[in-house]
Amino acid sequence: MTVPDHEADAARRRRGLRLPPRALGPLYVLACAAPLVLAVTRSAAPAATWEIAAAALGMVGLAAMAVQAVTSGRFELVSGRIGIDRVMSFHKIAAWWVLLALLLHPLIYVLPTWLADPGLAWERLRAYLTLPHYRSGVIALAALAVLVPASALRERLPLRYELWRGAHVALSVLALGAGLHHAITVGRFGMVGGMPLLWWGVGAAVVAVLAVLYGWRWAQLHRGAWRLASVTRHPGRMWELDIQPAPGTPELAYTAGQFVWMTEGARRFPLFDHPFSIAGSPARPGLRLIVKQAGDFTDRIGSLPPGTPIGIDGPYGDFTLEAHPADAVLLIAGGVGIAPIMGLLRDLVARGDRRPVRLAYAAGDPAKFACLPEIEAARATLDLEVLLVSEQDAAGWPGEVGRLDHGRLAQLAQGLEPARVVALICGPGAMVTAVSDGLLALGLPMERVIYERFDYAGGTSRIDRRRRRRVMGLGGAVALVIALFVAVMA
Ligand SMILES: Cc1cc2nc3c(=O)[nH]c(=O)nc-3n(C[C@H](O)[C@H](O)[C@H](O)COP(=O)(O)OP(=O)(O)OC[C@H]3O[C@@H](n4cnc5c(N)ncnc54)[C@H](O)[C@@H]3O)c2cc1C
Repeated sequence: MTVPDHEADAARRRRGLRLPPRALGPLYVLACAAPLVLAVTRSAAPAATWEIAAAALGMVGLAAMAVQAVTSGRFELVSGRIGIDRVMSFHKIAAWWVLLALLLHPLIYVLPTWLADPGLAWERLRAYLTLPHYRSGVIALAALAVLVPASALRERLPLRYELWRGAHVALSVLALGAGLHHAITVGRFGMVGGMPLLWWGVGAAVVAVLAVLYGWRWAQLHRGAWRLASVTRHPGRMWELDIQPAPGTPELAYTAGQFVWMTEGARRFPLFDHPFSIAGSPARPGLRLIVKQAGDFTDRIGSLPPGTPIGIDGPYGDFTLEAHPADAVLLIAGGVGIAPIMGLLRDLVARGDRRPVRLAYAAGDPAKFACLPEIEAARATLDLEVLLVSEQDAAGWPGEVGRLDHGRLAQLAQGLEPARVVALICGPGAMVTAVSDGLLALGLPMERVIYERFDYAGGTSRIDRRRRRRVMGLGGAVALVIALFVAVMA
């Protein structure tokens, strides 16, 4: 079965609503600079240079905080063409300069007093922190000062993921709401023509984002319900779920390799959903997911009875061959990273793809490999070579023992023209880092080494470092806009 025309059209329309990667950087700088552009075109009460700098940091920090609401990986408009990995790395770095700008905002107001009379500066600072006039600003800053470090340290906090996520949303809303109140009521440029309207517009946009995430999508999880058709056990504490649309729910128009956010039973609320890659081909009805037991939600998966209502939000992501055309394909999976790789492989089989395909699959020990008979059977349809690598050996293990090191990657890519190959890698953070660096060393171009991480531990790859430099460049551009504003207004 193939995806009907209207569903393919729907998928195309959805893709049409994804912003081009080149537009995202300039749009970000523009969104952060919007209050300054407005302030520079209107007349305001004269102020000293440091006061202008402090106000500019406050306004830009607040605008950048609002933008964080749409860089959380939940909006395909923003992340659809750059992938969740890149958008999350941006979100995490940008959070730090939002915090820095907003911490500097009150400090710079008192800086000259500090240089002249530190005692008086303390008093002014204490007044800022305690006067009712500034209370909303202090609340915003306090919420942000908890939010950003707590998110960076999340893995080490003794908090359930759902609790952390709920707190993250609550603190973000508090910081933004209180920050907007502060800007409108006491902002130095708050009274400048059009400025209150801008902040009210920002507030309305944030409310709309929340309404989409926790209203419209919540309704969708209930109205467009799915049902669990079956659960099959795989080795390595993994389960394969076959999920089918309930009567009246349309098939999902997705591309192989994408992922969905999934909830089950009565807990079909966006705060409780989890991301899982689609392990099937759109050529087959319904959705297949391969889920590894990793905690409270995934530990329950294997015991869900057929018929359980399932909420599906998606599809998301660009971990697809359609987004990265090439003459030959390297598929590389580590552990449960086999989930989207099976989606891609099953789709290549369904389409009878004639390109050379090389599949490397690594796991801790021979008892943890899933789908081996199906991978073997795919050879009958595809020009497929398979490299299985287990860290531990066992009697009768037909694959190799060790890790996917440089030598094995070279063996995998042998005979392929590096510039014409695309590599799709999915697995634990450390494996993804090592393999992507290894493939770059073999001559694959950076834009053809594509990966999706299920966790963000495991070091930074060369590609991550380049992304960071680009993100820092954006921060630099915003800082330049602030400097220009101060120079013009001083
Ligand atoms: C894009 C993407 C695709 C994924 N695809 C798959 C897949 O196909 N198969 C698979 O087994 N796993 C996949 N994962 C990982 C999977 O989402 C987590 O293992 C799962 O959510 C763990 O939930 P838990 O409650 O069982 O474990 P917990 O003990 O609650 O969490 C274990 C860790 O999983 C992560 N996690 C937990 N809940 C969430 C959440 N709601 N959103 C994001 N991360 C979370 C956190 O880092 C947490 O520390 C994917 C992750 C991402 C980001």
